[in-house]
Amino acid sequence: MRGAAGGGVSLPPLREVIARHGLSASKALGQNFLLDEQLLDRIAAIPGELKGRQVLEVGPGPGGLARALLRAGAHVTAIETDRRCLPALAELGEAFPGRLRVLEGDATRLAHGIEGPFHVVANLPYNVGTALLVGWLGGEAWPPQWASLTLMFQLEVAQRIVAAPGSDAYGRLAVLAQWRSTARLAMKVHRSAFTPPPKVTSAVVHIVPAAMPEGVSARTLERATEAAFGQRRKMLRQSLKGLPGALESLERLGIDPQRRAETLSVAEFVAVARELS
Ligand code: SAM
Repeated sequence: MRGAAGGGVSLPPLREVIARHGLSASKALGQNFLLDEQLLDRIAAIPGELKGRQVLEVGPGPGGLARALLRAGAHVTAIETDRRCLPALAELGEAFPGRLRVLEGDATRLAHGIEGPFHVVANLPYNVGTALLVGWLGGEAWPPQWASLTLMFQLEVAQRIVAAPGSDAYGRLAVLAQWRSTARLAMKVHRSAFTPPPKVTSAVVHIVPAAMPEGVSARTLERATEAAFGQRRKMLRQSLKGLPGALESLERLGIDPQRRAETLSVAEFVAVARELS
């Protein structure tokens, strides 16, 4: 192989890989590829030291981010739904023997089979990314198997994940991402960095698990935020009316039922869920 050097391995430029394998971007699969190797290395650095670590990459496409992760020393399991990309990924695997495992399929359905803790890195279409994020952040078992999530979203979705109370972006996704994790916006990525460029700016969000508050059921917290933000312009006394025990919980906690969901901090949502749990 010839071309851009990386971690002692010489790889062909990504444009050449795409041309040689006929990987014209499919709109239906949300394919907007990143080809700038320096930018890809910066994204691969967001999870921290990856040497010898397991990484799950969802949607490797022609393998730009995968090669950056491999250069960083990771053992990568990659799930790709577009079988046209498999020969390009097989070539990449040959350049990093024993360190790239590719699974073909839909990541929302397929088991990755990674044993032990792993980092997740992905640049996915918005709907697939959000569905996977909600799955990774949900459930009663905590801490999760994943050590960190490094995920590219359109900027507007990234802002909803890291939003603070009082902002329009603050809602269910912010509470879900922040009640037992820390979530930060790690990097904005201009649309011109992608081939083809999407319509909007993107951003990488970095999420790390934190301690789970005691005495709170994840399911109950989800139900409370669902009810509260389901009618986000209404006062809590209206939006939480259908949730048994919720209004009494607000009273016990001294939370004014005339407030609206978007004014409640993540800690206040947790307190309400604890009362209800
Ligand atoms: N990681 C590459 C990069 O950064 O250049 C490609 C990113 S592209 C935005 C998204 C990739 O996710 C595509 O290769 C697409 O085929 C793949 N993809 C879309 N839906 C998927 C799914 N449900 N499961 C696995 N891969 C999926």
